[in-house]
Amino acid sequence: MAVVAYLNGQFLDPDAARIPIDERGHQFGDGVYEVVRVYSGRPFLLEWHIERLERSLAAIGIENPHTREEWVELINEAVRRSGEPESLVYWQVTRGIAPRAHLFPVAKPSVSLTVRPFAGEAAVEPWVLLLPDERWANPWVKTLNLLPNVLAKEAAHRAGAVEALLVRSGLITEGSSSNAWFVRGGEIWTHPANRYILGGITRRFVLDLARDLGIPVHEEPLSWHELETVDEVFMTSTAVEVQPIVRVAVSAGLVGSLDTWPADRPVSLLPEVGEIRTVWQARGAQPVTDRLREAFADRVARFRHQQPVVG
Ligand code: PMP
Repeated sequence: MAVVAYLNGQFLDPDAARIPIDERGHQFGDGVYEVVRVYSGRPFLLEWHIERLERSLAAIGIENPHTREEWVELINEAVRRSGEPESLVYWQVTRGIAPRAHLFPVAKPSVSLTVRPFAGEAAVEPWVLLLPDERWANPWVKTLNLLPNVLAKEAAHRAGAVEALLVRSGLITEGSSSNAWFVRGGEIWTHPANRYILGGITRRFVLDLARDLGIPVHEEPLSWHELETVDEVFMTSTAVEVQPIVRVAVSAGLVGSLDTWPADRPVSLLPEVGEIRTVWQARGAQPVTDRLREAFADRVARFRHQQPVVG
C-alpha cells in the first residue's frame, strides 16, 4: 500500500480514515503538525522535526502524547507499512475531540498521520512573488492555521510564480511554505529564526552546510528594497530542499502594502495580481546556491546509503 493513514492508534485505509466532526483541528485549527522527508526508506533529520514538534506543542499548551522514542517508532512503522522508499510523512497533533467550545476541553490529544509517495518536483522557471506577510505574530509555531499561507501561495500561483515571498514592514520574512535566502558578495543573508518565521529544519541543515563550506552567514532580515544588491536567491524546505530562484517580482498594486504592517487599507486576501514588475533577476550563474545544492545532495546520498528501513 503506497498511501498510509494513521489515526489515534490505528493504521487505516486512507480512503476510510475519518476525522470526527468535533475534532478541534477541524473546528478551530487547534493543533500543530510536522512534515518529514523520507529518502530510501529513512526519515531525514527526524530528531530535529520531533524537537520542533515539542516546541510547537508546548507553545500552545497541548500535552505531547508521545515520547521521542515513540514518535520515532510510529513514523518508522508508518514508512515501513507504506513500502515507499521516497515519501513525505505529515503528522498532526490536535487538542483532541470534544463538543465545540473555545476553552480547552478535558480530552486526549489526537494524532493523525499520512505517508504519501514524494520524489521531489523540479520547478520550471522558478520565480517568486512578493506579497504582504499578514500572518499572526507567531509564525514560529508550526500550527495547523495555514489560511494566510494558503491564500498567499494561491495568489502567487495564479500569477504564475512558484512561491509567495512574504514581506512584513518592508522586511522579507520567508515563503508561504519555505525559508528565503539571499547571497551578496559571496555571503548569505537569511531572516533570523525569531518569532516572525518558521525555523525550518532545512534552514537549520543548510546553515550547518554553509558553515562547513566556510560561507559567511548573516542571520539578519533583508529589506525588499535591497533586492537590487543581491546576486542569488534561493528557498529551502523539506519538500524543495534547496531551490534556486531566477526572478523576484511584485504586483504594482501591492507595493504600498509591503512597507506597512498591517497595511492601513486591508489588502484583498486573494489579491488580483494585475501588472507585475520584476524587482530582481538572476544574472547567470548562482555559485553559492550551487555549492549548497551539491553539499545537500551529497549529504542525502550518504544518508541513503545507510541501511534502508523499507526492504
Ligand atoms: N516556512 C514555512 C511557513 C513553512 O511552512 C515551511 C515548510 N514546513 C518552511 C518554512 C520550511 O521548513 P522545513 O525546512 O522544516 O520544511
